[in-house]
Amino acid sequence: MSLLYATHARIHLGNVRDNLRAIRAAVGPSRKVLIAVKANGYGHGAVEVSRMAEASGTAEWLGVATVPEGVQLREAGLRLPILKLGPTFPWEMQAAVEAGVTLAVCSSEEADAAAEAARAAGRPASVHLKVDTGMGRVGVTQEEAPALALRLSALPGVELGGVFTHLPVSDAADPAWTREQISRFRAAAEAVQEAAGRRLLVHCANSGAVLAHESSWLDMVRPGIMIYGFRPDAETPATIPLK
Ligand SMILES: *Cc1c(COP(=O)(O)O)cnc(C)c1O
Repeated sequence: MSLLYATHARIHLGNVRDNLRAIRAAVGPSRKVLIAVKANGYGHGAVEVSRMAEASGTAEWLGVATVPEGVQLREAGLRLPILKLGPTFPWEMQAAVEAGVTLAVCSSEEADAAAEAARAAGRPASVHLKVDTGMGRVGVTQEEAPALALRLSALPGVELGGVFTHLPVSDAADPAWTREQISRFRAAAEAVQEAAGRRLLVHCANSGAVLAHESSWLDMVRPGIMIYGFRPDAETPATIPLK
């Protein structure tokens, strides 16, 4: 007889929807909401959560970590814009463009590869520029960001639609570092938009920042863990009711 036990996780999509409505009530109707559904919706079912959000109008964007995650959502019939949150290898870009997945671009090499992918796919590559404001892992430096925006604006087949950053310690009890990051990001986003010559979608708020840093909400918020009912850290204030 097998010694394996069957484990069931029952997901209440209505609770996820209520969490999204609570976030909307907090951030207001004019801001967009991107829900992070990477890693199979943090184990809750990326397709099911995305379908619920699209059908109920509780999110405007979906966020994934990998190209196959984005392709999976398109194959399931999801129509919402999808942002790939991290960097992309050049050889993965064409598949992303063909699936209509918006790419995060962090370097001039990636910018050129996105243009090449657009040419190969025969359709424009939608991109958001990612700035590193202190995480020290992914993104162009603040100093180099305007030059990258200029380059992206000049490349044929590339449509620059947004600028963003990641706030790795927004859930910490001490808000100082994240406050500093937000103010650096706002300045960088201004410089990027000036270089691009137009308004872009400006965004940086993960769950910790949605809960604790109102000044980070900007044009769009990007909650992940909180839509599934969890605060990112026991220290993060419970400013929004979650199921
Ligand atoms: C995963 C991710 C999020 C969501 O993070 P949470 O802490 O789960 O809210 C937001 N932005 C980016 C870039 C991410 O990769």
